Amino acid sequence: MSAALHDDTIAVHAGRQDLATLGVHAPPIDLSSTYPLPDVETGGDSYEAMTGGGRPIPDGGNVYARLWNPTVARFEAALAQLEGAEAAVAFASGMAALTAAVLSHTTSVGRPHVVAVRPLYGGTDHLLATGLLGTEVTYCDPGEVHAHVRAETGLVVIETPANPTLELVDIGDVVAQAGEVPVLVDNTFATPILQNPLAHGAAMSLHSATKYLGGHGDVVAGVIACSEERAAALRPVRAITGSVLHPLAAYLLHRGLPTLPLRVRAQQGTAARVAAWLQAQDAVAEVYYPGLRADPLLGTQLRGPGAMVSIRLRDGYPAARHVASATSLFAHAVSLGGVDSLIQHPAALTHRPVTADARPDAGILRLSIGLEHADDLIADLAQALEGACAVAPRAEAHAG
Ligand code: PLP
Repeated sequence: MSAALHDDTIAVHAGRQDLATLGVHAPPIDLSSTYPLPDVETGGDSYEAMTGGGRPIPDGGNVYARLWNPTVARFEAALAQLEGAEAAVAFASGMAALTAAVLSHTTSVGRPHVVAVRPLYGGTDHLLATGLLGTEVTYCDPGEVHAHVRAETGLVVIETPANPTLELVDIGDVVAQAGEVPVLVDNTFATPILQNPLAHGAAMSLHSATKYLGGHGDVVAGVIACSEERAAALRPVRAITGSVLHPLAAYLLHRGLPTLPLRVRAQQGTAARVAAWLQAQDAVAEVYYPGLRADPLLGTQLRGPGAMVSIRLRDGYPAARHVASATSLFAHAVSLGGVDSLIQHPAALTHRPVTADARPDAGILRLSIGLEHADDLIADLAQALEGACAVAPRAEAHAG
């Protein structure tokens, strides 16, 4: 398929090129846990190729589903093409993907130090802060990366737009500061439709595919787009630690990709309206949305402001606590990026494991804007905010 194709076309056709030859129209789901071996030598060679990070050898068979699955490989091929990457490696969750990226670039190659730019998703922050994987982390601001990179640094981790305040980080600048050290960008919020980190020099673009890629709230998955060389370092970690993606989940992810560009653009259009409306509300002290700031990275690195909006309530935690439970169309639930709108309190939930000094303000709520009509979402927020004005002083007095 030509590189000149538009995202919309790639999203529909990628990973499906051989279907007509197979005589089918929809991608087949291969649920095999094991595969017939052609003979001992060829099967063994295929096994060795895959444990070394490669693909099955021609006619060698897939050997075992923890090493390779064709349905997963289809989704990987499609996602790689959307990201403009040579390869992609899919995992059982976004955290499994991050774990493999950290292990393969740090402790396993004798460079256990990680530089990470805050804010990050709470789970990412937590994984690095605990040192569970044998790493040591230095958290810093985007402009300080160079100052903290040292000989033992194996990885730089950033997220942009960042969770939950939607700050943008200049990927190219961080890559320049990191020098030889690979930069991993969490691209979950932007999706490949709005941002391609590899085009700005990043080594890996990570997605919690649970979010926009899945898009329907029914899949937990992760994926990393990168070079084939780096994919060959990630696959053995996936095989050894058993963090493979289930083929049914891969099928659903692949099925959701054709509508990804449409979903992202429609959700973004609604988010822009909701964000503008929120900015005019007395109960709201601050709206965090890239489209409301004059950021030079918007329109260049990030092709659109996206569909995540965060707000800080003027009456702080009591008001946030009320609003989170007072909406009806916005489900009070963590996660994001689906067709239905969600609202959640980062300090209490997604960012709860983050150390207190870096935890988001308790008055902040994060909204994931879905495909509902903007007027209906605004009406839902209006009634919830109205209630917040009434409840806030009473709750504060109670808390005090
Ligand atoms: N990165 C971001 C930005 C996230 O929001 C999440 C989950 O909320 C993750 C990574 C982790 O992904 P998962 O929950 O699929 O393991």
